Amino acid sequence: TGAVASAAGTVLLGRYELGGLLGRGASAKVYLARDLRTGRSVAIKSFPNPRAASDRPVAIEREAGILRRLRHRHVVRLHEILATRTKVHFVLDLAAGGELLSLVDASGRMTEDLARHYFRQLVCAVRYCHARGVCHRDIKPENLLLDGAGALKVADFGLGAVAGAGGDLLRHTTCGTPAYVAPEILSRKGYEYDPAKVDIWSCGVVLFVLAAGYLPFNDASLVNMYRKIYAGRFRCPAWFSPALRDLLRRVLHPDPSARADADSIVAHPWFRHGASDEEMGRLMH
Ligand code: ADP
Ligand code: MG
Repeated sequence: TGAVASAAGTVLLGRYELGGLLGRGASAKVYLARDLRTGRSVAIKSFPNPRAASDRPVAIEREAGILRRLRHRHVVRLHEILATRTKVHFVLDLAAGGELLSLVDASGRMTEDLARHYFRQLVCAVRYCHARGVCHRDIKPENLLLDGAGALKVADFGLGAVAGAGGDLLRHTTCGTPAYVAPEILSRKGYEYDPAKVDIWSCGVVLFVLAAGYLPFNDASLVNMYRKIYAGRFRCPAWFSPALRDLLRRVLHPDPSARADADSIVAHPWFRHGASDEEMGRLMH
């Protein structure tokens, strides 16, 4: 497998000593590891058997290519790739704080101010990616992590797309929950869609979830859930401020051409509320 057991009984991968499992997704397992040269902790995303399915090497190569283009405070950074005969491993910044959703309170939500704090970081990361021609296309809580200092890190560009690289249909129509997926994806009629607007929609769902503690579009019946998403029909809880409601109506707009983009979110009063010019400047860098 390329990993070797050392005399001490620990598992080594090159100069990295593997530790416990941090998480797993549909495509990979992610392990804690220690860089024996620097002593630093990292995360290693291991793709099992990349040659098992014919599309895997292409997908992994695409994810790597996207990560290499991105250097942002709120995007998980790729340090290097370790390829062995049968496996590929990404050495990533460790997001030691775990998943963003771990910060919600007993009722499953956070204050509007705290939701704004993380939403700002998310939108700034997404805005940066879009400016670099990259769309994430899988923004949802499992892919939003925190580093050791509590800063948000966008992870998992496994479904990412580079603008102009040719359209490929999304896998998430068939796997997982559609709760974060934009209506133009679900309707399947549009092979032509703007992936940047798809990211914006997902950011809106994340914001709603953080501040409400439940999904904006949900139903025991999947058909009804789809109907609500197509119609962009959601109700804000009583405690949402008028400015937050206004922003959500613009972001969770079912018509992608009428939906806000990252720049118009950044210009919205709710987004800027309470931030100094200096703070805004730092986020926008
Ligand atoms: P997949 O492409 O299979 O969904 P992800 O990249 O989303 O894989 O990683 C799966 C899970 O592993 C994440 O949901 C998260 O819990 C954890 N994880 C991923 N990257 C890191 C990281 N850099 N630091 C800490 N945990 C991580
Ligand atoms: Mg994932």
